[in-house]
Amino acid sequence: MKGIKIKKQKANEVRKILINNNQINSEYKLKSDENNVYIPLIDNYDITLIENIKQDYHIIIEDYDFLEGQYKAKNFMEYLNDKIPEDAIENIRKSFDTIGDIVILEIPPELENEKKIIGEAVLKFTKRRSVYYKKSKIQGVTRTRKLEFLAGEDNLETIHKEYGIRFKLNPSTVYFSPRLATERARIVNQVQENETVIDFFAGIGSFPISIAHVKKAKIYSIDINPEAYKYVNENMKLNKLVGEVIPIEGDIRKVIPELPLADRIIMNLPGTAKDFLDIAVNHLNKNGILNYYEFSSDYETVIDRVKKIAYPRETEVLNIRKVKSQSPGVWHIGLDMKIK
Ligand code: SAM
Repeated sequence: MKGIKIKKQKANEVRKILINNNQINSEYKLKSDENNVYIPLIDNYDITLIENIKQDYHIIIEDYDFLEGQYKAKNFMEYLNDKIPEDAIENIRKSFDTIGDIVILEIPPELENEKKIIGEAVLKFTKRRSVYYKKSKIQGVTRTRKLEFLAGEDNLETIHKEYGIRFKLNPSTVYFSPRLATERARIVNQVQENETVIDFFAGIGSFPISIAHVKKAKIYSIDINPEAYKYVNENMKLNKLVGEVIPIEGDIRKVIPELPLADRIIMNLPGTAKDFLDIAVNHLNKNGILNYYEFSSDYETVIDRVKKIAYPRETEVLNIRKVKSQSPGVWHIGLDMKIK
């Protein structure tokens, strides 16, 4: 079965990323030798995520033998008492997003009548506090979705832990994706001491706080959603920061004239960030870096767009990657571009 081989020193970090993204095959046991830990992967593991982890950590993905875990019999399928077709159960399991002690999942319309049984099964299987399902797509300016309660305790506020950072949030009033953990780590690694950073679309401050947790930088954390602003302030208090986070509530177009020029601008609003590229380019110092995100099926469209808007300033692509899948054939693309 496919698994990951990782040096012991980094195994815990990688294990946490895999757990947050539901990539570990919990029916089998992790194993280790003197230097390495071996982690079993689910059958349909997320290739993009695993490739991203491979770039950040020295992992080897190969077929390894794993022993069956003690609780194989008590798998998710069994909790559902044969009430639901096997492939539907597998799809539901793959849709799990775990944010703090809340599990959020997708229920296909044909299983709407079974949603309470599914919720109870997920509650038992995951041993988390609450289970909700996605009642709408991510929508509107605030990029939030409606969640409907299924099982456990009906309380949407939670604390999500990621790389030793605690993020308090309500996933129905603010945007947050645990699947961006690797992307956040990648950006944190790029930031130099004493940089001035502006996060145009900061949400609860997931990028700014991750940076300030380990880097002595000054990060302006802008968001139009008052709830996101409330949580950035709370999250600054919840975490020990070596850098400085300055939260501002408002539309970036109105806020930007009051801000200093930046060494780095983060733009994670992949549907519409393109409409803000002109103000970002104009607000970057010479050789400043744009961490820009866009939904696209190819890299060229994204690179050409930024190049065109940055003109006559010269540009250099530092890195471009698929962050995660958005829909069949469409990716959440991340571009790091130097604007000279
Ligand atoms: N960067 C955060 C993250 O990755 O967790 C949040 C990303 S979320 C996709 C985009 C955020 O942009 C939302 O929190 C939304 O409220 C905010 N937003 C949308 N339009 C905005 C604008 N014109 N000015 C400032 N923030 C805006």
